[in-house]
Amino acid sequence: MRKTALFLAVLIGGLLPAVDVQTAQAAQAATVVSPKRPLNVRAGSAVWTAQLRTLSHGSSVTIVCQVRGQRIDQGTVRVTDLWDRLADGTYVSDAWIRRPQEVPACETATPVAAAAAAPAAVAGTVASGGIPLKARSAPAHGAPLVAALANGTALTLTCQVRGENIAGRVRTTPMWNRLPSGTYVSDAYVRRSATPPPCAATAPPPAAAPAAPAAPPAAAGRWVSPLPGFTARPGFRTPRNPNHIGVDIMSFTGTPIRAASAGTVVEVVCNIEAGHSCDQTGSASIGGCGWYVKLQHAGGIATLYCHMVRRAIVQPGQKVAAGQVIGYVGSSGNSSAPHLHYEVHVNAPPTGPYNAVDPLPFMRSHGAPIG
Ligand SMILES: [Zn+2]
Repeated sequence: MRKTALFLAVLIGGLLPAVDVQTAQAAQAATVVSPKRPLNVRAGSAVWTAQLRTLSHGSSVTIVCQVRGQRIDQGTVRVTDLWDRLADGTYVSDAWIRRPQEVPACETATPVAAAAAAPAAVAGTVASGGIPLKARSAPAHGAPLVAALANGTALTLTCQVRGENIAGRVRTTPMWNRLPSGTYVSDAYVRRSATPPPCAATAPPPAAAPAAPAAPPAAAGRWVSPLPGFTARPGFRTPRNPNHIGVDIMSFTGTPIRAASAGTVVEVVCNIEAGHSCDQTGSASIGGCGWYVKLQHAGGIATLYCHMVRRAIVQPGQKVAAGQVIGYVGSSGNSSAPHLHYEVHVNAPPTGPYNAVDPLPFMRSHGAPIG
């Protein structure tokens, strides 16, 4: 009996969250100001980290301390990159919080999206000289190319697997680094201060990798065509247009554009040359992708939808489901006919030409071919 009680006490003690006495003393009560929709409570200090629950307008919260993270412009109380850590270790943007006084910084800084990355992940930098480093679907140079990463690109190295031996600029090694998107880069071209941990046993067996069919980058959830029924010509980085980092799906003005997969709206922007409006039909002589939306999905995948006819019908921070209508086809910005310019980025955020991948094979491999 005594033994059982002791065991239970130890068990319960182990389950209780560890409370730092010092920070707990500084905790303060605050109020959620979000009359239009519930405030998302997240695992980290950015909207692309996991949403754990919501808090309704007027809810009371206890803030333990603050960390820096993603800047939120659309809050009701202030524009800020500060996020409030709650007593249970979750985060809310301080942009939506009314509080009587300043909040102390958390003593152990939590990097943006730390919760999304493996705890032991190591930071690295591409050191490939003039040629972009290839991110591949398996740890061998014969494996399908998923992305080309420019020299100097910052990387998050989740873990390492043994693969093809590569003699590179930094070292000669059979080790390959897995990125958060599930792709691999040879460690021979990566500068880093520490060695990433070995990948868990779920890693694909390296010996079989070169011959194995292309493993798609990790992208959880269902994928659908953003413009069902319409086709895209191959158009990603063509010889004539090497800077075209997406595909163009020709359509009609007003056709609903759908979220290619579940995710979070991270940008709703009018991107156009100064002196022009996204609310007018664009032309080939005007720069910019017009009204666009960027979505962040699980697995470090981001998608971009350009040239909408008017501002998207979704808002930054909003969660969308696969297939949910986010806006309508138009011809705003650098466009000579109604169409959707669609981009897929891996290892995001951030997004840029360096991590854009050809949407056609990507969508095909995710069961959602575009025409
Ligand atoms: Zn395009």
